[in-house]
Amino acid sequence: MKPYFAGLVSAWALLTVGMVGSAGAETQSNIDDAPANPLQTPNARPQGTYKFIDPGLPTYDGDGVSAAVSNVIYLNNCKPNGCAITPGNENAMTNRSTIPEQPSTVTPFAYSDANWAQVVDCVKATYAPFGVQIVTERPATGNYHMAIVAGRPGDVGMQNGVGGVSPFSCGYIPNAISFSFANIYGGSVDDVCWTVAQETAHSWGLDHKFDNKDPMTYLQSGPSRKSFQNMAGSCGEFSARACQCGGSTMNSFQAIMQMFGSSTPTPPTVAITAPKSGDIVPQGFAIRADIMDDIGASKAELRIDGTLVATLTAAPWVFNAPMNLGQGNHTIKVTGFDIGNSPADASVTVSIGSPCTKPADCSNDTDTCVDGRCVAGSGVDGGLGDVCANSAECASGQCGNDGEGNAYCVEACDPAKDACPSGFGCIVAGTGGVCWPGAGEGGGCSSNNEGAGLSLFGLGLGALLITRRRRRS
Ligand SMILES: [Zn+2]
Repeated sequence: MKPYFAGLVSAWALLTVGMVGSAGAETQSNIDDAPANPLQTPNARPQGTYKFIDPGLPTYDGDGVSAAVSNVIYLNNCKPNGCAITPGNENAMTNRSTIPEQPSTVTPFAYSDANWAQVVDCVKATYAPFGVQIVTERPATGNYHMAIVAGRPGDVGMQNGVGGVSPFSCGYIPNAISFSFANIYGGSVDDVCWTVAQETAHSWGLDHKFDNKDPMTYLQSGPSRKSFQNMAGSCGEFSARACQCGGSTMNSFQAIMQMFGSSTPTPPTVAITAPKSGDIVPQGFAIRADIMDDIGASKAELRIDGTLVATLTAAPWVFNAPMNLGQGNHTIKVTGFDIGNSPADASVTVSIGSPCTKPADCSNDTDTCVDGRCVAGSGVDGGLGDVCANSAECASGQCGNDGEGNAYCVEACDPAKDACPSGFGCIVAGTGGVCWPGAGEGGGCSSNNEGAGLSLFGLGLGALLITRRRRRS
């Protein structure tokens, strides 16, 4: 911890001592490397700090500059000639800053353009949930925050060991300039990204957080790539303390959300590259998907015949189908999510062996036929129509409940085909359908009787409340 003001050190230390007794009572899950002695500073990593400025200063309304919050963050790498900064009240548009005490030049970002592009992508990903715009060209008009991502602390009169610095008040500082001293991090994208996230957020009033997953942390444990945590926790550097701006906890995610709102969802594009629709596939076949997103894909879910069977949280987006998948047609759906959790999906229909049209087509005598695929039939434990209490009891992984005390193992089906076995009808459930005992006898699914609630308990889906059409009579 190498804060800018010597006076702050003792203020923090006092707060720290005062907080020790209560820190243990809080839920703090992300503090693995917090030292036993809270005044000890175990860090080797250069730490970002902040410099209090007086929010009453004319920086808020001087120069005819609007005091409005701007959602534009301009990342400036100071290539190729460095950034000339003059001391004075914050004004990103004229390169004027409260940080240096004399005219200074920040040396350019020392690494390749490819490395810079990775830093920019990481900062975009870190801020993806929020309604901000990250740009790398100086905006021609309007207010903005300028994040200088270049140079070394000595360039603006800071001591060695300072990884970054930002002006700080307990709110948004319009037109502020933050500094992330990229050239001391040896080209480490995650370290620079973490510092940029922390310094920019200081400029909108966020304190340090005692949470090793959050970019506002000083702790080196936890993931190297930090993300703003949607979880209230103590402020603090190497131990929990009260927050500089009041209160005992901070939720950095919610604080930024309050400042900027949420981002406009930009769902990824999802394509299943293998197998192709109509393919005959072997047991355990591989499923490959491409998930493209402007910022980054974060998750992929595989559903087979409507049941969630696997989730991946990193590329490559390659799954294997379960080995127990029955003979016949199967619908493969991959849902991809971006970092902001916007979903998109793609589906293909494949066949293991030949599709069935009737139960007798299935090689297993106890199987029945639904939409061209052989599934565990009635009379088999967990088979179609068996009474169930939860989804794990069903071969299909889906226990349907109509809310009237009836719960049966169901199979996904296409209501348009209504190709459930005799004694079952395909009723609308969620975005598809399920085979339900006794439904649609004689009338298919076309009756328009009153709806009743049917809950589907799919694997990992929680309860999906849907409406089914009640059979006649
Ligand atoms: Zn900091």
